[in-house]
Amino acid sequence: MTLPLALITPQWQCPESIVAYTTTKAGGVSEGDFVGLNVGAHVGDNLHHVQANRSLLPHSEKITWLEQVHGNRVARLPTQNVQADAAFSTSSMHFCAVMTADCVPILLCDVKGTQVAVVHAGWKGLENHIIENAVTAFDIAQGELMAWIGPAICGACYEVDAYLASVFKRYPTAIKQGQASNKYLLNLPLIAEYQLKALGVSNVTQSQLCTYCREDLFYSHRHATHHHKPNTGRIVSVIGLK
Ligand SMILES: [Zn+2]
Repeated sequence: MTLPLALITPQWQCPESIVAYTTTKAGGVSEGDFVGLNVGAHVGDNLHHVQANRSLLPHSEKITWLEQVHGNRVARLPTQNVQADAAFSTSSMHFCAVMTADCVPILLCDVKGTQVAVVHAGWKGLENHIIENAVTAFDIAQGELMAWIGPAICGACYEVDAYLASVFKRYPTAIKQGQASNKYLLNLPLIAEYQLKALGVSNVTQSQLCTYCREDLFYSHRHATHHHKPNTGRIVSVIGLK
């Protein structure tokens, strides 16, 4: 039996002209390790199922699906070059979207609701200025932007080694000691918030939703790995202009 879609509406004070949502696993036709509404076409799921799932999404015909590579490029829509980890749009015909399964999805818009962007930020993206690149894509002062940080692996669930902790040592409050002496807990959503605020985006809302804690709702790459599954699905975070 297929469940109805259960979309998350970001809890932020965005302008009327903005359409924004994040999917959950609920709904969709995927099976097995991908059960539900997997929208990732690159993870080994049946592509007919992925296509059917994508077609169920609101405004699906306007969504540009990126080929995400953990880089720092922003695709200005419309474009033929979709190899990017962020998208920016000023057109109501072209919606921005990123797929995630633990990495941090970030929605951005200006307070007047005329420009939008979305960012896929894993640790590599955070290290390589993907957020800065998306913020500077706006033709608007950073003080006039707002951001929503969507479902991502939380600071209690994301265990990393000493190397990765050291990469982010300039954010000491986002790093905690792990269970083992050589393990650390890294808070990627908090690092994303720090970076946004350092760029002048002071209006930042955290969804407080963890993909690992809420594996019942979301696909979690780390959770799948811990349960010896080779792969898992992807949710999508979408933003566009009405
Ligand atoms: Zn968690």
